Amino acid sequence: MKVRIAGLEEESYVDGEGIRYAIFVQGCPHHCEGCHNPQTFDFDGGRLIEIDELLDRIKGNALLSGVTLTGGEPLCQLRSLTELARAVQGMGLTVWCYTGFTFEELIGGVERYFSADEVREFLRHVDVLVDGPFVERQRDLSLAFRGSGNQRLIDVPKTLSGHEVVLIDLD
Ligand code: SF4
Repeated sequence: MKVRIAGLEEESYVDGEGIRYAIFVQGCPHHCEGCHNPQTFDFDGGRLIEIDELLDRIKGNALLSGVTLTGGEPLCQLRSLTELARAVQGMGLTVWCYTGFTFEELIGGVERYFSADEVREFLRHVDVLVDGPFVERQRDLSLAFRGSGNQRLIDVPKTLSGHEVVLIDLD
């Protein structure tokens, strides 16, 4: 199985906690005003890479805390990324995922891209979801791991096991 990527950052310190393997996927339907990665919008751009190749590269760095899926819109390649996230967690690493959808939008499924069941299966293999579009008028450089104040760092396991969105505690 393959994923279409815009690029890779093999040791990132800014895309989540610890040292992370950041995968910038290609293709984004949100087109947020002020987006820093407009080159990722085109669903036909970037290049395809095998999930197995990504996993081999990730296994090759013992310093990693985890993998971050960002973009672009990772949820638009949910089937491949579910396989990747499952394998990454199987290595004992954490998975962070950025999305331009809000948690409330995606949990019911987004007809064009994924069903509610598919997104739930994906989220079972995600530790932290950074949700919502980048909103330029709420841009805030002081925020950890996100660009605008509307975006949340969601503790996915706790949120899925309860009835409300639980945010992670960074302290
Ligand atoms: S969701 Fe992310 S990649 Fe997509 S337009 Fe918004 S900021 Fe850019």
